[in-house]
Amino acid sequence: MKTAIYPGSFDPPTMGHLDIIRRASKVSDKVIVAILNNPHKKNPMFSIEDRKKMLDLITKGLENVEIDHFEGLLVEYAVKKQAQIIIKGLRAISDFENEFQMALTNRKLTPEVETVFMMTNDKYSYLSSSVVKEILYFGGCIDQLVPEEVNEFISEKIKQGEIILA
Ligand code: ADP
Repeated sequence: MKTAIYPGSFDPPTMGHLDIIRRASKVSDKVIVAILNNPHKKNPMFSIEDRKKMLDLITKGLENVEIDHFEGLLVEYAVKKQAQIIIKGLRAISDFENEFQMALTNRKLTPEVETVFMMTNDKYSYLSSSVVKEILYFGGCIDQLVPEEVNEFISEKIKQGEIILA
């Protein structure tokens, strides 16, 4: 059984993320979408719990996908989960340099875990969580950029005053 880990911040999950999750779920037996709890990334817009809720909502129909979160070294987490594959999405050359370095470092640390890169869907090549947050800050519409369930979840949070857009 091949288990793949798809790590990221998912703050919030976008159409680009969902596209990679769907494709990863077709080429592996099990996909663990792993939310990185990164103490170096200051001021996330959404708590880990909310990001998990949004990812649960958008992957409801995908039976071999589960949502988890982790702290610390990705390769150690992968070994703990008995995963053989790390999935990364690539949008542009700008993603490449950093990902290349990380993939080689991770291989050095844990040769048995293979990093697999998936090219972005051309429809979403410009899309990142930061773009979504930027639009939210300026009160714009994100309904083409995030899955419907995420849009509804965020709208409700804004309505309840639980997201401070300042
Ligand atoms: P971001 O804030 O840039 O969206 P994440 O840490 O949430 O970053 O991204 C998690 C993973 O998803 C990374 O491997 C990233 O390259 C990939 N990814 C993010 N957006 C897209 C997209 N639009 N197309 C393909 N891969 C993507």
